[in-house]
Amino acid sequence: MVNLKINGKSVSVPEGSTVLEAAKAANIEIPTLCFLNGVNCAGSCRMCVVEATGARGLVAACVYPVSEGMEVRTNTPKCRQSRKMTLELLLSTHKKKCLTCPRNMTCELQRLALEYGADADKFATAAPDTPLDTSSPFLIRDNDKCINCRRCVAACKNLQGVEAIGPIGRGYAVHIGGAFERPTIETNCVGCGQCIVACPVGALVEKSGTDAVWKAMSDPEKKVVFFTAPSIRATLSEEFGLPVGTNVEGKMVAAIRRLGDVEVFNMDVTADLTILEEASELVDRVKNNKPLPMFTSCCPGWIKYIEHNYPEMLPNLSTCKSPQQMFGALLKTYYCEKNGIEPENLFVVSVIPCTAKKFEVERPELKKDVDVALTTRELARMIRTAGIKFADLEDEDYDDPFRIATGGGAIFGATGGVMEAALRTAAHMLDGKFEVLDFKEVRGTNPIKEAKYKVAGITVKVAVASGLANAKAIMEDIKAGRKNYTFVEIMACPGGCINGGGQPNVPDSVRNWTDLKTLRAKALYNYDKKLEYRASHDSPTVKMLYDEYFDQPNSHKAHEVLHTEYTPREKY
Ligand code: SF4
Ligand code: SF4
Ligand code: SF4
Repeated sequence: MVNLKINGKSVSVPEGSTVLEAAKAANIEIPTLCFLNGVNCAGSCRMCVVEATGARGLVAACVYPVSEGMEVRTNTPKCRQSRKMTLELLLSTHKKKCLTCPRNMTCELQRLALEYGADADKFATAAPDTPLDTSSPFLIRDNDKCINCRRCVAACKNLQGVEAIGPIGRGYAVHIGGAFERPTIETNCVGCGQCIVACPVGALVEKSGTDAVWKAMSDPEKKVVFFTAPSIRATLSEEFGLPVGTNVEGKMVAAIRRLGDVEVFNMDVTADLTILEEASELVDRVKNNKPLPMFTSCCPGWIKYIEHNYPEMLPNLSTCKSPQQMFGALLKTYYCEKNGIEPENLFVVSVIPCTAKKFEVERPELKKDVDVALTTRELARMIRTAGIKFADLEDEDYDDPFRIATGGGAIFGATGGVMEAALRTAAHMLDGKFEVLDFKEVRGTNPIKEAKYKVAGITVKVAVASGLANAKAIMEDIKAGRKNYTFVEIMACPGGCINGGGQPNVPDSVRNWTDLKTLRAKALYNYDKKLEYRASHDSPTVKMLYDEYFDQPNSHKAHEVLHTEYTPREKY
């Protein structure tokens, strides 16, 4: 351990720690901008400058190592003056459109400028005027708001291994974009949105679908239905100031109902349906020597990644549509037929944790079964616009017939959840007496998890990865024959959908030092534990759907509505 003093307070931290980590241990906050814990640590923005004994001039706390007996001062006039000047220089080239910026009130630059009393026009230059990149269906890049912190570049490279974006040009002209200035639509971007949640300002935001939803709700010809993805119940709370990991399912349903004349359904129902279809497909592949390992197919970020990078492995991908697309297809077929609604008059809105699903709804092979996909952030904006006092709402339940689902469906929102839900059902399919419901080996936020189970004389070897850089490691091992699995779950976002690119913006001061993934996942596992049904095959809703419509898993009708196919792709 190394002993030092920060602002006169003694602290001991492991050798190799940075001053920023030591300050955190001493409960002293140092402002940051380009630093994002576990993602980007470049020491380039100079917001975290401090004075330290033995150092010449100010040093960047995020990269400066501690030493024995060091004395650090984080709040001297010199530090404050330097930070203020840094902010004024950043603001000099910044498009200052705070009033209408989607990051207004959650922007790190805005917060710091206010805290340090920075003069936005001190070094005023000509207003920047770079065209927006609106080429993709999910993301808008406004480089006139970019502060070149490169957190997005680091997220895309270090977390996702995609490297769709990077710095272009030199010196004053440097900016972020696709190689050779290609717009997003022409890159290998998978749409995960990890760059959006990494961005401290409004330079990267999702393409909003809220106007289309408001319009549909005021159209007398349209019947509007919403359904919410499993993870939203565990994250929407953060938009309304409730603690990270608070389950707000009941308030969320009540809030959506107050937006307009709509019905609200539970997407866990099609997560359960996915499990029935996927587990049957797995059992068929195992028993009939079909391509293994089988890969999960519920994450559209992962689907696009494999289409770009491992097209030769597409036969290994489960043919199941994602739960979002299963729900859309179910509504436009079964639900419309049952209720005498013309499918074009049913306006389907999904509330989802990611931006990749905005791309997914536009895939031509999926027939636009979902009209608009809204992120958690967009739903929160609509709730605020409607003047709904979220925290005061009484809990309400989803609407029938898509109300009741199982814990297996709910844990889809966390890495390992799809695998655990599939194991609960596949084990039951292989051995009707198998009654284990907790497969704890596949839980948790470790980047790659492996386990082996023996059921009905068959050994099932499984792996779970989240974050596409980890997916890449698994794929390379499989291709080289170093690993041999039966079933592999991959989610594009580190930690799974609870950490998706459409989830709430969390301030750096919290995000850098809180294990968001674990807290949010805990909310889902606690919910799973208390539900009446925990295995997808026990769901009364799923049983009703097979009785009334699909007959049995993997039937002809099920294939027609619930399955799809994939194509290799070079770019968007
Ligand atoms: S959406 Fe994902 S893949 Fe695309 S640029 Fe952002 S981080 Fe990279
Ligand atoms: S787009 Fe955002 S995250 Fe990327 S460099 Fe610019 S400010 Fe930083
Ligand atoms: S892990 Fe979840 S949030 Fe992330 S891209 Fe996949 S489906 Fe979307």
